[in-house]
Amino acid sequence: MPSEMISAIVPLNAFEDNYIWAIPVRLNDSGGVAASTTAIIVVDPGDAAPVLRYLEDNGVQLAAILVTHHHGDHTAGIAELVAHRARGLVPVFGPARDNIAQVTHPVRGGERIELPEFGITFEVLDLPGHTRGHVAYYHRGLLFCGDVLFGAGCGRVFEGTMAEMQASLAKIAALPADTLIYCAHEYTQANLRFARAVEPDNTAIAARAKRVAQQRAAGLPSVPSTLTEERATNPFLRWDAAAVIAAATARRGSPPGNAIEVFTAIREWKNSF
Ligand code: ZN
Ligand code: FE
Repeated sequence: MPSEMISAIVPLNAFEDNYIWAIPVRLNDSGGVAASTTAIIVVDPGDAAPVLRYLEDNGVQLAAILVTHHHGDHTAGIAELVAHRARGLVPVFGPARDNIAQVTHPVRGGERIELPEFGITFEVLDLPGHTRGHVAYYHRGLLFCGDVLFGAGCGRVFEGTMAEMQASLAKIAALPADTLIYCAHEYTQANLRFARAVEPDNTAIAARAKRVAQQRAAGLPSVPSTLTEERATNPFLRWDAAAVIAAATARRGSPPGNAIEVFTAIREWKNSF
């Protein structure tokens, strides 16, 4: 995918550290994500204000809203955005199992979302664990994954089980290696401090920490990252790595029997880190 298309996806800042992703699309565009834009699709608008400002500043329409899960920092702006677009209906896609009031198009894993007038489709992935119904949206090597996978970290397991969360992360890990990970929070720097505690000798983590520190100092987002990068540095995708298994063994006091037990030990450690 040409780089100008990727850089055309814009992170809108919300709250302390949320990103609302704005995906540019063009009417009757057959190629999907468009460099020249007449509308945007937004992912997880927890706040309407930054989205409305972007629509106004760029003279574009709101094509659709994608929601990954029911938490307020991902949903609280939906009602105002829908009300604001008096002209025509803005479809709101969201997980059927998370029961979000403003969702007009409930979706489930395995489904495909189609916006024919914008020539764009997304595949829906079921990724339970953070919430029961959490989904992600995948379009041609781009993954919008809400609070499941973060830069060098993962979401807390609030509603599902550790086994469900590990399976959800494994589902992401199985996507093409060059998949770009558009997560919903800027947590990478803090997550890398934990990653270094888990794997002090992992040079990829040290290199990433240095790069992310420079990005943040320059006021730039540390995301999207690539799946390759996450597999090399994210302790929550590294249940197979000897150093992570050793760290899990030390935490548990006995060797983990499988990937779920490795993940659980590391996730519980992070909860109190
Ligand atoms: Zn959340
Ligand atoms: Fe969140």
